[in-house]
Amino acid sequence: MTTMDEKLEAIMAEVMRRNTGEEEFIQAVREVLESLGRVVAKRPDYIDNALIERICEPERQIIFRVPWVDDQGRVCINRGFRVQFNSALGPFKGGLRFHPSVNLGIVKFLGFEQTFKNALTGLPIGGGKGGSDFNPRGRSDGEVMRFCQSFMTELSRHLGEYTDVPAGDIGVGAREIGYMFGQYKRLSNRYEAAVLTGKGLSYGGSRARKEATGYGATYFVEAMLATRGTSFDGKTCVVSGSGNVAIYTMEKIRAHGGRVVACSDSNGYVVDESGIDLDLVKEIKEVRRERISEYARQKGTGTRYITMGSIWDVPCDVAMPSATQNELTGKDARRLVANGVLAVGEGANMPSTPEAIRVFQEAGVLFAPGKAANAGGVATSALEMQQNASRDSWTFEQTEQRLASIMRHVHDTCAATADEFGAPGNYVLGANIAGFVRVAEAMRAFGVI
Ligand code: GLU
Repeated sequence: MTTMDEKLEAIMAEVMRRNTGEEEFIQAVREVLESLGRVVAKRPDYIDNALIERICEPERQIIFRVPWVDDQGRVCINRGFRVQFNSALGPFKGGLRFHPSVNLGIVKFLGFEQTFKNALTGLPIGGGKGGSDFNPRGRSDGEVMRFCQSFMTELSRHLGEYTDVPAGDIGVGAREIGYMFGQYKRLSNRYEAAVLTGKGLSYGGSRARKEATGYGATYFVEAMLATRGTSFDGKTCVVSGSGNVAIYTMEKIRAHGGRVVACSDSNGYVVDESGIDLDLVKEIKEVRRERISEYARQKGTGTRYITMGSIWDVPCDVAMPSATQNELTGKDARRLVANGVLAVGEGANMPSTPEAIRVFQEAGVLFAPGKAANAGGVATSALEMQQNASRDSWTFEQTEQRLASIMRHVHDTCAATADEFGAPGNYVLGANIAGFVRVAEAMRAFGVI
């Protein structure tokens, strides 16, 4: 386990004092600071200029009331957030999450991770994140629309294609982006397409954006497997979650010759040894907006729906946690290692606990952290912004090709940086250092701002 030197310890202590109780944010910062010891040893000016402290402090944090009226005519109140974390490399960029667990600490952890992730893509995008504790589950389209309109009524004043460009995350897909874009357009009286990404194809969205996070994570793991002279071909895989990231991860694994035998939602997981039927998952999740238990109910014999234990009990060669933060614990990691897992690629943001990461690294399992492996989503958002800026629309093939080459760049950057800093194969260290250096260099050029 990497230990921090004294100066980094002092910065960490101050981050903990300032952000009391924000566990996920503190966890995300600690993971990065634990990687920076070797950089600071070479470049003490990062400490002298307080660049690390500045990167740990969001540029701006916005919290607002979101009042809306439900179908029964009752007034409901939710809390809205946007944390504009870092704009050294470009406009703030990152998704919006609608989920009852959303609070300031969660949004800050996501915004912090996003800053490094976006830097790793090599594209001109800063980092930000937002969302609300609104729970879209069980809400009618009309309720979701009224919520989105109210949310955007306040948020719109903080956005702009050169200022801050949100997209989707958990609970925010094409439907929500459509309602929010419509409200922004109405309020601003401008057709400012690049103010949101993840838009529908009929009004400025990019082809392959929906698929990008899952496809990109699969490319990253494929590149990682290639360093050991192997590939997805013939591998048994487990992908947690059944949302946008999980669905397109499963699709690309299958295209690469792998077999996905389990996926999940927050209630339980399904095992289908013959390979998960993706058309059925898409129908259940994307069209009917139902729970994954429906899969087993409809498929019947040969499939199991399990609510006890963990999806990580299912033996596999490749595990791709693609649900949510801290879903894969130390115990899960030990089980995966005992079952012979070869590679783990994080499709979600920070799905493995620090203990789980330690278990994988000590066992020599290839481990791709989310901020590198899932960068394909936001990278394709940046491609959407490019298409909007040039009033153009690329083909699926053209966009996917750019995505593949960006993911190759992210992989190679992490691997080369890990080598350079004396930790070959440590993608966590490589991603944290490479992301940090790119942001820190830009900030240094700007002086103290
Ligand atoms: N929410 C996604 C992420 O975690 C995408 C962000 C975006 O496209 O701006 O990277």
